[in-house]
Amino acid sequence: MKQCNVIADLLPLYLDGVCSEDSKSLVESHLSECEGCRSLLQNLKSTETDGLFDQQKANVITGQKKLFRRKSFTVGAVFAGIFTLPILVCLIVNLAVGAVLDWFFIVLAALMLAGSLIVVPLMLTKHRLFATITSSTGCLILLFAVCAIYTGGDWFFVASSASLFGISLVLLPIVVRYESLNGILKRNKALFVMTVDTVLLVMMYLAIAFQTGFGFFPIAMIISFPFLVLVWGIFAVIRYLPWSEWIRAAFVSLILGLFVFFLVPIFNGVFELFLSMPTDTRISWDIDHLAGDLYPPALIVGVVLAAVFTIIYYIRKKVNSCEK
Ligand SMILES: [Zn+2]
Repeated sequence: MKQCNVIADLLPLYLDGVCSEDSKSLVESHLSECEGCRSLLQNLKSTETDGLFDQQKANVITGQKKLFRRKSFTVGAVFAGIFTLPILVCLIVNLAVGAVLDWFFIVLAALMLAGSLIVVPLMLTKHRLFATITSSTGCLILLFAVCAIYTGGDWFFVASSASLFGISLVLLPIVVRYESLNGILKRNKALFVMTVDTVLLVMMYLAIAFQTGFGFFPIAMIISFPFLVLVWGIFAVIRYLPWSEWIRAAFVSLILGLFVFFLVPIFNGVFELFLSMPTDTRISWDIDHLAGDLYPPALIVGVVLAAVFTIIYYIRKKVNSCEK
């Protein structure tokens, strides 16, 4: 038995063929008469081949990845080539027909938008999502610009600011989630998204005011104010309160129920506050008749949800403490 331990120590060296001749003969003579050490050797051999197999598998996977990347780059380049064909055709036709370039730029911007959605993700290997979304958004804004210039439209700022806000609202959380960020941004992803969306919302209001008259801006801000407070409040509860997730869910349900229930007083209060000063901006505003039957059920749903979440929290706490 004592010899078995010595042999067990020697076996890895023996297997790799790096032990001395004396050790080798000792191991072999012991193996010929000991069943236990023979099976130990067998085990060592099989784990070693497993490791080798894993290594080979990893090699194949990285090789395939590289190949796939190279292929998708080629496909992307081919698409980019295909997109330049109609661009060239339109360039020539537009020049031949009008002697100046006008609608050509619309075609160019439109094809750039399509191209950015197809070519960018195929040709890039890093920051693919971010690059695709920013380049296609840029191309969309460019398309709006050339269309506005070509048609003499003054809707450019409204269309582009509204598009930016909508795209950011839907896609920015996804980008922030999947892109590798660092520094302050990494620790404050949600705050970053909330700030960008709020700024874009205000910019959209400014663009609409620029288009329709500046009276729109204060009214839009006043109406948005309670909702902004609500959304930022919910964000703060979810992100920063150090409570259990169930208690935070209960709190948010309660806030939402109360907000809907007190919608009319809230808005009346906000209007009193903001519109009492300059009388000429005062608008007649009556939301009492707006779906008045909805307010009590909203409060009931909020309170019931809050109660359910709180009960779940206590049940889970009890179960966890019993398990310990
Ligand atoms: Zn042995």
